[in-house]
Amino acid sequence: MLLLEAGSLGGGASGACAGRAQICEGPRGAHMDLVLAGLARLEALEAELDAPFEWRRLGNLVLIEHERHWQPWVEQIAYLQQRGVMAAMLDPADLAAAEPLLRGDRFRGAAWCLEGHLNPLKLIRAYAVAARRLGARLRPHTPATGFQVTGGRVTGVKTAAGLLSAGAVLVTAGAWTGDLLAAAGGHLPVQFTHAEALISEPLPPLLHHHIGLADFYETIHTAERAVSIGVAQQMSGALLVTEAVQRTRTIHRTNSGWGIPALARDLLTKISSKPFDHEFIKEKIALTNAAFNIENGTELVDQISRSLLPYSAEKQPIYLLLKDGRKITLENSENQILSSYINQPNTKYILSFPREI
Ligand SMILES: Cc1cc2nc3c(=O)[nH]c(=O)nc-3n(C[C@H](O)[C@H](O)[C@H](O)COP(=O)(O)OP(=O)(O)OC[C@H]3O[C@@H](n4cnc5c(N)ncnc54)[C@H](O)[C@@H]3O)c2cc1C
Repeated sequence: MLLLEAGSLGGGASGACAGRAQICEGPRGAHMDLVLAGLARLEALEAELDAPFEWRRLGNLVLIEHERHWQPWVEQIAYLQQRGVMAAMLDPADLAAAEPLLRGDRFRGAAWCLEGHLNPLKLIRAYAVAARRLGARLRPHTPATGFQVTGGRVTGVKTAAGLLSAGAVLVTAGAWTGDLLAAAGGHLPVQFTHAEALISEPLPPLLHHHIGLADFYETIHTAERAVSIGVAQQMSGALLVTEAVQRTRTIHRTNSGWGIPALARDLLTKISSKPFDHEFIKEKIALTNAAFNIENGTELVDQISRSLLPYSAEKQPIYLLLKDGRKITLENSENQILSSYINQPNTKYILSFPREI
C-alpha cells in the first residue's frame, strides 16, 4: 500500500481537530452503532498500535442557552442512556459543580455525556508508525496531480515525480477531494468552510470537560461568518478554543483579522470570565514567555483583550516577537499550531483549517 500526502502527515483537518471521540450529538440508529464500535476500538488502540496518543475518557458538556434546545437534548440523553452510554441532563446547580469557572447566569443547564478524547497528531503518528511497520509506504509532500484512466477505470496516479500505476485508488483528500476528482473527470460537490481556532499557553488545570454550545451546528452552518465556542484543556495544559468559521470557495491557510479576536471575545463574555481575567492572565504571562520562547506574551494578551473593543487588523496588528527578533503577525501566521506546539513551540501560534460541512 502506498499513501500519497500533499503536505505533512496530519497536515489537514485531522491533525488540527479538537480530538473529541464524539458521541453526544450522534444521530440514532446505524450511525450510533458505528460511533460506539469506534469508541470500543479506541479503548484498545494504543495497545494495538503500540504507541500512546493521550487517549482518555472525558465528559462532554453541551451548554444549553435557549429553551428550544432543552427538550431535544432530554430526548437525546434518554436515547444515549438506552444505548448504555453514561449521560445525564444537568441543571444550573449541577453545571456549576461540574465546571466552577463557567458563567452560571447564562445557561439553562447542560447535556452531559462521557466521551473519549485524544491528541489527534499523536494518533496520526501512531497510525503512521504502525502502517510502516506493517509494510505500507507513506510519501508526504507528494501531491497527486491527476489520474491515468484506461477503459473507464483509474489505473494510475500522476505526481510531479511521474506516474504510479495502481490496482485500486482510494481518494481521501478531505476538503480537496472535489478538485482532485475533477482531474479524473469525476464530479463530487464538496463544500467547506474556513475554521480558525486558538490555543493558549499551557495553564494549570482549569476545565474538566470538553465544552460546547447546543446551537453549534445551526450557528456555524447558517451565517457567512460565525463563532461558536468549543473548549477543552489538552493534556499539556493548553486550552484549545474552537472555532471561528467563515464561508469560502477556496481553501486557504491564512488567518482572518476577525476570527481570533472574536473567539477571545466570546470566550470571555459568553462562556467564562475567570480563566482569562486580567489578574489570572498576568500570573501566566511568565509561563507563556517561557513555554513559547517569546518576549511579548504581555503585549499579545493585552492586544487580544483590546480586541474586545472594535478591532482593526491594520491599525492594531497583533504580532508575536520571537526571541531571535523576527515578528509574525497573527494575520499572516500560518496554521499548524498543534504540530508546531509539538515540534517547534517558538514559531507559530494560530491554526486555521478548512472544515468540510
Ligand atoms: C477545528 C476543527 C475541529 C474538529 N474537531 C473534531 C473533533 O473533535 N472530533 C471529530 O471527530 N472531528 C472533528 N473535526 C472534523 C474532523 O477533523 C474531520 O472531519 C476529519 O479530520 C476529516 O478527515 P479527512 O481525512 O477527510 O481530511 P483531512 O484530515 O483534511 O485529510 C485530507 C488530506 O489530503 C491531503 N491532500 C489534499 N490534496 C491532495 C493531493 N492532491 N494529493 C495528496 N494529498 C492531498 C491534505 O493535505 C490532507 O492532509 C474538526 C474539524 C475542525 C476543522
